[in-house]
Parts: sequence; structure tokens; C-alpha cells
Amino acid sequence: MKKKISELAIFGGLPTFSEKLHVGRPNIGSRQILLQRINDVLDRKWLTNNGPLVQEFEQEIASLVGVKHCIATCNATVGLQIAIKACELKGEVIIPSFTFIATAHALQWQGIEPIFCDVDPHTHNIDPQKIEPLITDKTTGIMGVHLWGRGCNVEALQEIARRYSLKLLFDAAHAFGCSYRGQMIGSFGNAEVFSFHATKFCNSFEGGAIVTNDSELAKKIRLMKNFGFSDFDCVDDIGINGKMNEVSAAMGLTSLESIDDFIDINIENYKQYQQELSNIPGVNLIAYDKKERCNYQYVIVDIDESITGIDRDKLYRILWAENILARRYFYPGCHQMEPYRSRIADMGLMLTNTRHLAARILALPTGTAIGKREISKICQILRLATTGGKITNEMLYQNVCAC
Ligand SMILES: *Cc1c(COP(=O)(O)O)cnc(C)c1O
Repeated sequence: MKKKISELAIFGGLPTFSEKLHVGRPNIGSRQILLQRINDVLDRKWLTNNGPLVQEFEQEIASLVGVKHCIATCNATVGLQIAIKACELKGEVIIPSFTFIATAHALQWQGIEPIFCDVDPHTHNIDPQKIEPLITDKTTGIMGVHLWGRGCNVEALQEIARRYSLKLLFDAAHAFGCSYRGQMIGSFGNAEVFSFHATKFCNSFEGGAIVTNDSELAKKIRLMKNFGFSDFDCVDDIGINGKMNEVSAAMGLTSLESIDDFIDINIENYKQYQQELSNIPGVNLIAYDKKERCNYQYVIVDIDESITGIDRDKLYRILWAENILARRYFYPGCHQMEPYRSRIADMGLMLTNTRHLAARILALPTGTAIGKREISKICQILRLATTGGKITNEMLYQNVCAC
């Protein structure tokens, strides 16, 4: 019978959690206001097709981000697909591999080949210096990802895009409410796309938004997300159904009203992790620039096995055995998943920083669903597992991991 850390007397008998602690448990704002809004939707009988709540949600996002146009979508992946299509990207588009698979799939879905670029080992974002060698005569764009809400090196990307006449898009799924060099993320490049998926700190159940200062592009995107309809019985171009519905917008608006609270809680959680992890050698919390606005929705640790004596994957399994569902974002990297993996077999050799990070990074639970006690326990488990006292890491692993 395998035992959990919490059952091992030597570790002081930590209680097992009654509930699993996930990364990305949803933040939920005022239930009362949400239900009132949903009631109003039902009374109005205007459930979708650019309803008043979607319009309000779009205006709120545009003003929060300081951008001219916001087009809400059913999710960020479809939002990316529409933005990519509206920018007329084709051939090849350069993206980081160290991202959620949707960044790559949004391109491949429409027959555009994602060309994977390595990331900067410190920022975890696409490394502008590695882009130029990847540019071919088929390249039409670059799509950066503001990973963990930390802005890409926007100036360098803009400069490359300008020099080679490429379009520049950003997958800003992590970066709603974040700034880069004092400017809110959302107004960079040709367009940026936010996600309001349930796992993101501000959610609309499912949802996304394309933001841009380009009025022509915004117009095109509006048509595209509604089948290309410019009027009743009049279709101007190819389109898709990318519309957000009113219930999602009700949730989105309700979330928006609480985002300052959500961020404050995330900051509190982050500070507690920072303090409690500070005396655990080899478990390094990634930093956010205090000069920038940040949503702090990701608590990311880098596991230095040469110091901890235990690798990230073992640590991950120990946490899961303790019902702490930490995540190995973004292991193993998009280039190691299909359909990309078979196509580019030796890609891993080129993406050394991506490979390195994908083997070391762990995302820990945060948000409103977690309290001080839970964070302390998570840190205690990390402490025990990495500096395991009388028990060697190998023994601990054998004891804890049935998996
Ligand atoms: C969440 C996420 C997406 C996809 O967002 P959906 O709204 O779920 O479609 C895309 N890219 C990144 C980096 C993400 O984290």
C-alpha cells in the first residue's frame, strides 16, 4: 500500500485535502449580480447575435485596455483563427513553441504552417534574435505570446515585422490586465487576442476578445465572426460563427467588476508563495516586474534539480498524489505534439531553451479558490520533497507515487 506524504508520520501527519487544488480553478464574482444579469437576458429574449451585454463587455474591455476596437468571440482560439484570417496570413507564421497548443493549432487549422522559434530563457517569451533565421519567402507573420502575462519584447518584434513587411499578432490569452512598458497589453501589433476561458483569472465561462486600433481590420473581423453577414441576406466575404453569447457576456461583465479583487488575491497568494518558497533551495518563483501592471494569475516555479535533488516530474507526481493538481505548462512544447512532432523530428535540438524550460517549469494553484492554509501546505510539501530530511528523495518518491 503506497502512502501519501500526509500519511507518513515522519512528515508530521498533514491532513489530506478534502478537495483537490487545481491550477485554474475559476474565480467567480458576485453570484447575485450574475444571476440578475442572466434573468434580464431571459426577459429580453435576446440570447446572442451582438446582444446588449456583449456590446457592454466589448466597451468595458476596450476602455480598460485603452484600445479603439474590441470584438468579443466565443473563445480565444476562434478569436486567434479569425484575427489570423483577417490579417490574411498564409504560408508560414513564426511563433514560440513554449505556449498552449491553441497558438499553433489556430494557424495549422487554416493550412498555415507554424514555424517554432525558441524562447528567451529569462522572459520565457519568443526570442527576437532567433526569428530572423527562420524567415523565408513564405513567412507572412509573427505571433508572439505574452507568457504568464509578461509582455514580449514588443519593440524588437515590431522592428523585425516592419523590416520584412510581416504582420504582427499577439496571443494575449495570459495578459489581460497586464501592461508592457507602462502601456496596457492589447494595443500592440496588428491585433491581440485575450482569453476569458474559465481557467483564466477573468472569465466568461468560454470567451475571448480580439482587440485592435486598426479600424479597417476591426470591421473585417466583425463581419468574419458573424458568417460574413453585413446585413440581412447579405454576405460580403467568408466568415465563421465566432460570436459570444449573452450568458457568457453576463459572466464576463460580472468578472470584470471583480478583477481588482481577483488581482489583489492573486498578489497576496503570490507574496505568500514568495515568502514560503524563499527558503526552499532550487524552487525558484518567477518574478513579475513591479513597475508593470500584472494579473498574477500564474504562480510559476522553476525547479533546479541540481539543487533540489529531485526533478520536476517527480515533484509533480508527489503534488498530484497529495491532490494538488499543479501543471507542467507548457510541457513538452507544441513542437513535441502532433501534427508538428512527426513533421519536424529534429526540432527539439534547435529549441534548447524551450526544451530546458519545459522540463523545469511547474504552475502552482492560485486564485480565489485557494487560501493561506493551502498555500502553506503546498509549500510544506515542496519543502519536504526537496529537502526530505531523513528520507532520501528516491524513497519518498517510491512511497508517495503509485503512478
Ligand atoms: C487559454 C489559452 C488559449 C486558448 O484560449 P481559449 O479561450 O480556451 O480558446 C490560447 N493561448 C494561450 C496561451 C492560452 O493560455
